[in-house]
Amino acid sequence: MQKNIAVIRGDGIGPEIVEQALLVLNKIGELYGHTFTYTDVDMGGVAIDKWGDPLPAEMLQKCVAADSVLLGAVGGPKWNDVPGDKRPEKGLLRLRAGMGVYSNNRPAKIWPQLADASPLKASIVDKGIDFIIVRELIGGIYFGSHTTEEKNGEKNAVDILQYSESEIERIGRIGFETARKRSGKLCSVEKSNVLDSSRLWKAVMHRLAEEYPDVELSDMLVDNCAMQIVKDPSQFDVVVTENMFGDILSDEASMITGSIGMIPSSSLGASSNGLYEPIHGSAPDIAGMDLANPIGTILSAAMMLRFSFDMPAEADCIENAVSAVLDAGYRTADIYSDGCEKIGCSEMGRRILENMRKD
Ligand code: NAD
Repeated sequence: MQKNIAVIRGDGIGPEIVEQALLVLNKIGELYGHTFTYTDVDMGGVAIDKWGDPLPAEMLQKCVAADSVLLGAVGGPKWNDVPGDKRPEKGLLRLRAGMGVYSNNRPAKIWPQLADASPLKASIVDKGIDFIIVRELIGGIYFGSHTTEEKNGEKNAVDILQYSESEIERIGRIGFETARKRSGKLCSVEKSNVLDSSRLWKAVMHRLAEEYPDVELSDMLVDNCAMQIVKDPSQFDVVVTENMFGDILSDEASMITGSIGMIPSSSLGASSNGLYEPIHGSAPDIAGMDLANPIGTILSAAMMLRFSFDMPAEADCIENAVSAVLDAGYRTADIYSDGCEKIGCSEMGRRILENMRKD
């Protein structure tokens, strides 16, 4: 198979971790007879420096035209003071909206080899952590209007949170379909005791539930969900929620699994062309030091193979190689524990390549 991948290396550790993921994809090409070609795309701080815009229109076009997009991370202190609409993160929001990827899927899964790295007690971790957060990605408060005005002698800021029934329905369907492929349990998270947008969310989810009698739907308020994720994460299988709640809960869920550097994500819309990226940021504190963990990006490439290119064996090959390297005791600094061997970003990539086999 031949696939063109738009590659956004981005800022900070972005170029280092993306480099390792591309080596892994090339190896998949060799082992399974696929050809991956790469189109470089500037986004984030690097694009601001070069083009004065975090995502110039022609860069977005390259992403829309590609078979999928692999992204490292964007942002950093250098661009902290640029105006709001020119910030690196604006490039990311425009990319998601421009690609129409309305569903972000983040697995929160503990690797047994890293159980000690979880901040939760062993008695909680031992019950198992393996769930997915399906987050609405291009609606809600992040995409409503944002204004700050002078009123009665002081500044007033307003952010609009709005959802239409159709926006809720399309993400709700992804939640139900995902639950159907797993254990058949879906938890819809909202704040219907306070917000109108959440009351509409809940009503649409219950209407949809009639079409999915094989899925058991439950409702949970977002504040309770934040508590339950640390109290007993084993109760969750698939969680579906709106943009801002999903942003916060998925960061919380990633922390309980040990390291932010291990977690991939996929963002999909109506077509198979998706956006794949690790969940962490550009880690400016360790950029250029060969210290970053490339596994989240490598596993994002595996998700791309599985969900956009229909290559499950190839995705398994990558995930098995990651598992083998962890079994052998190799760790980047962020996941290091006593008795393991500490290695850098490029060495971690090399070890994963070494363990990739076609079964
Ligand atoms: P961050 O995720 O970059 O870093 C948080 C901590 O985790 C840091 O100590 C960092 O060293 C560590 N870390 C992150 N990824 C790691 C990896 N792969 N291996 C080892 N350690 C890792 O979050 P932050 O410090 O809040 O943000 C830094 C910049 O990244 C900001 O400009 C922020 O806006 C941006 N950001 C970008 C994205 C994205 O591109 N999707 C997401 C979040 C934050």
